[in-house]
Amino acid sequence: MTGAWERPAPELASGPNPNVAGLGLEALRALVAALGESPFRAAQIHEGLYRHRWTRWEQFTSLSKALRARLQASTELRWPEIMESVGSEDGSTKHAFRLEDGSLVEGVHMPYGDRTTLCLSSQVGCAMGCTFCATGLMGIQRNLTAGEITGQVVTMLNAHGHAGNDPVNLVFMGMGEPLHNLDQVMAAFALLTDPKGLALSPRRITLSTSGLVSGIQRLGAYARRPRLALSLNATTDAYRDRIMPVNRVWNLAALAAALKAFPLEHGERITLEYVLLQGVTDSLEDGRRLAAFAQQFPSKVNLIPFNPHEGSGFEPPSEERIAELCGLLAAKGLTVSVRRSRGQDVAGACGQLARRHQD
Ligand code: SAH
Ligand code: SF4
Repeated sequence: MTGAWERPAPELASGPNPNVAGLGLEALRALVAALGESPFRAAQIHEGLYRHRWTRWEQFTSLSKALRARLQASTELRWPEIMESVGSEDGSTKHAFRLEDGSLVEGVHMPYGDRTTLCLSSQVGCAMGCTFCATGLMGIQRNLTAGEITGQVVTMLNAHGHAGNDPVNLVFMGMGEPLHNLDQVMAAFALLTDPKGLALSPRRITLSTSGLVSGIQRLGAYARRPRLALSLNATTDAYRDRIMPVNRVWNLAALAAALKAFPLEHGERITLEYVLLQGVTDSLEDGRRLAAFAQQFPSKVNLIPFNPHEGSGFEPPSEERIAELCGLLAAKGLTVSVRRSRGQDVAGACGQLARRHQD
């Protein structure tokens, strides 16, 4: 379970010409050098790709017409393509992206409040096999490249007409286990946070993991890295073993030790995601154990009522139980929010719910 997917994403066969979408400055320098052009052109292409989010060579008006024509003839400029988009009542839009090899992954655009959150995939499928998760049931096909990860952002920002300086959060909470593809995820993180490119804030990027301790340790060693969220989802090894096979490799004690050792910046907290499965993970004893787990390090808790899908065999919790668990965690001094709809964390939901149920 630990080794199989911790390897580079494949070199994708993409026709005779290299795809520049997702190349960093160094690679672009090599590309323009091969064309006999000045290194300065690489910076211009980089700016066009990531700051302006241009998607066709004709748009690169900072380059000469002749160079544009040469680039057109000798390269590809191809980001993941939107195959299908489904809007939801809550204002979010789920996009199915088609990749160069025909694989499909999902990304979600969530324009809530004064910020937009984009939910990204890191793999086609997932090897972790969590029993409540639709992606887990698919199994793993492959890792995404840094360009495919970055491309979900570029394509969603373009599709929704975002300005370059719109405040954007990213969460790696789509398909896949990002710590099984850390090299490509971190290469994408570098592209996404480059001040001369997309310039997203590193503090506004969150990587969510099912709990690969080796990956958590690797992530902690980076000087610049995304924030960490852990999908805890159960409070005893017996239940976590059942719904998240990774727990048989790294159990709750191993996880707690890794999270306590994770080097946090001043004010930084680890998010604990907790999927509420009726009758499985939503007891009041679970709530008390969840609180005890969360109190071991700076944390905030995000309760996620199970989102039902066909054949899963699980049910979402009752509203009463969500409110009770919220109240219990808040009474222990923890910061708690409830994910009310796709990706939306309503911090005030506890209070509102508690009040409704008191009345
Ligand atoms: N693989 C990573 C990130 C992708 S899953 C991880 O597991 O953390 C993102 C989140 O969605 C996780 O917290 C996971 O527990 C949760 N999740 C998966 N399937 C769900 C479902 N059907 N309902 C609610 N949450 C779900
Ligand atoms: Fe789903 Fe995340 Fe588990 Fe993978 S690790 S099966 S994406 S919940």
